Amino acid sequence: MTELRGALIGCGFFAVNQMHAWRDIAGAGITAICDRDPARLAAVGDQFGIAARYADAEAMLAAEKPDFVDIATTVASHRPLVELAARHRVPVICQKPFAAGMADARAMVAACEAAGVPLMVHENFRWQSPIQAVRAAIDSGAIGTPFFGRISFRSAYDVFSGQPYLAEGKRFIVEDLGIHSLDIARFLLGDVTRLTARLRRVNPAIRGEDVATMLLDHENGTTSIVDCSYATKLAVEPFPETLVEIDGSEGSIRLAQGYHMTVTGRDGTRHLDVSPRLLPWASRPWHNIQESVAAIQQHWIDCLRVGRESATSGHDNLKTLALVEAAYQGAASGEPVDLAEI
Ligand code: NAD
Repeated sequence: MTELRGALIGCGFFAVNQMHAWRDIAGAGITAICDRDPARLAAVGDQFGIAARYADAEAMLAAEKPDFVDIATTVASHRPLVELAARHRVPVICQKPFAAGMADARAMVAACEAAGVPLMVHENFRWQSPIQAVRAAIDSGAIGTPFFGRISFRSAYDVFSGQPYLAEGKRFIVEDLGIHSLDIARFLLGDVTRLTARLRRVNPAIRGEDVATMLLDHENGTTSIVDCSYATKLAVEPFPETLVEIDGSEGSIRLAQGYHMTVTGRDGTRHLDVSPRLLPWASRPWHNIQESVAAIQQHWIDCLRVGRESATSGHDNLKTLALVEAAYQGAASGEPVDLAEI
């Protein structure tokens, strides 16, 4: 099997996880990297032994002609970089949030479609093994037909020290973290027709909202609550665990803190430990997210090799991004938002 040659753009805080994961992916590796910041370029290049280093993404794509490009920059640069990859006909992965608004996102998907290049959004939370375990329990039929769900992420973890830009944006928790929770809601319970949202800021030291409570009407009639907070001080800090409740016609699923899953169905109750693996390069408490990075990157390579659309393709991710837009619009108006109008 020939090794696919990837090029990474953006050598910042999160890209280090992606670089670690790429080293372990069967059939692919990163052979060139790019960052406008020379110190970050040097740090990642030295840490991972990459000699091909570029300050300019276009120069990298022209010189290296990689098999795919992995964009790990922040949102402002996503549209120009995805369109650049499309112009060079290079399959592209782009970090979440895919775009700052729907018009940009639709243009990016259209550019890749027109160029015939695969596009995946690095929307990794649905790839966390505890979330996959919840989905498998639903799919097993053990709880019958789901009628209610709750996807909850509540924490007081200091995310601002590693990612200072999170304190500066007008939008914060829905765009950065809630986007993952909303994607999990879609993954577990299906697409959404209507969303009602309430947002607030509790931490006076940041600009955007740090608490969000959302009510989702799913196409199949299921109702769910997606709630997230970075202002919730708990006895035991759960970061970065997503807790899940699913009620079905025959039983229920509870994914509780500590990666404990309880499935109650017709045949009784099962208690399962669904802890993520601690990969050799991973560190607690991030290991849950780090494992999902490896999983989504392997999924991309598996899809690329056989020409299959990835689970979180650009096209799919438009629906998750629409939920983010709906949350901001709905919180501003105080009214429910019909997703068909986003
Ligand atoms: P960061 O600011 O630490 O790193 C971004 C890097 O990109 C910087 O080094 C910057 O110099 C470089 N860059 C920006 N524009 C560039 C361009 N045009 N050409 C070359 N280099 C460029 O940001 P981060 O915290 O690593 O976040 C990056 C992305 O990852 C964000 O979109 C963030 O939301 C996402 N993220 C995802 C997860 C997840 O679990 N999926 C977790 C954390 C962050």
